[in-house]
Amino acid sequence: MNIVFMGLPGAGKGTQAEKIVEAFQLPHISTGDMFRSAISEGTPLGIEAKSYMDRGELVPDEVTIGIVNERLAKEDCKEGFLLDGFPRTVAQAEALENIMALSERKIDHVVYIHVDRELLIERLGGRWLSKSTGKIYHAKFNPPKVEGKCDITGEDLYQRPDDNPETVAKRLDVNIKEQQPLLDFYEQRGYLRTVNGDQDINKVFEDISNIVRGQL
Ligand code: ADP
Ligand code: AMP
Repeated sequence: MNIVFMGLPGAGKGTQAEKIVEAFQLPHISTGDMFRSAISEGTPLGIEAKSYMDRGELVPDEVTIGIVNERLAKEDCKEGFLLDGFPRTVAQAEALENIMALSERKIDHVVYIHVDRELLIERLGGRWLSKSTGKIYHAKFNPPKVEGKCDITGEDLYQRPDDNPETVAKRLDVNIKEQQPLLDFYEQRGYLRTVNGDQDINKVFEDISNIVRGQL
């Protein structure tokens, strides 16, 4: 099962990916997470990606396509994968079609999690993360049991540097501009399935699970 999650920053892609990869036993491929790991490791990729991420811009297509191409060639992706945050441009979507065709695979579902912009600002402003587990919390909508601490490890939660109000506004502008042609691209191919992301986390999960199981 090869799945793509689409949606603006804060739509709930990472939150739903946590649940879907566990339920359907798929590797979770998040380009944002790959760039953040590269930044932590101080690699040349990380240094390059950071300059774009800090400004709320997209990392150039050739760099992003390159890392996804390498990742999708790995053994654990042969039986399926969940792509989260890629593609974000039509050029990336075209590259993904090529990667799939060359390896005789295809995308089964493109799930677009739709949430209005105003709500996204509040979601991103209250997002808190656990470094070691990657678990995603929200101060109001999905709070940890103990304020500021991960439920699993008890470690201090942190906020992403690009979740500050100015960078959030820029990221939303950039992503809104790129998103419509991408939605059209998948709509024309008949892949696109839209889910209402402005519902309880478990209800969004139920809707996505039904699509993945072919029941919607
Ligand atoms: P994305 O990966 O699309 O950027 P996240 O999954 O990180 O989005 O979610 C952004 C924030 O919104 C997080 O703090 C998360 O806890 C919260 N969130 C996710 N889904 C929902 C939902 N259905 N309702 C309310 N808050 C949500
Ligand atoms: P995310 O974790 O998905 O919110 O992504 C964080 C940042 O990583 C984005 O603001 C971009 O700078 C960069 N990024 C992630 N995915 C992509 C992509 N597919 N194309 C370009 N840049 C990306």
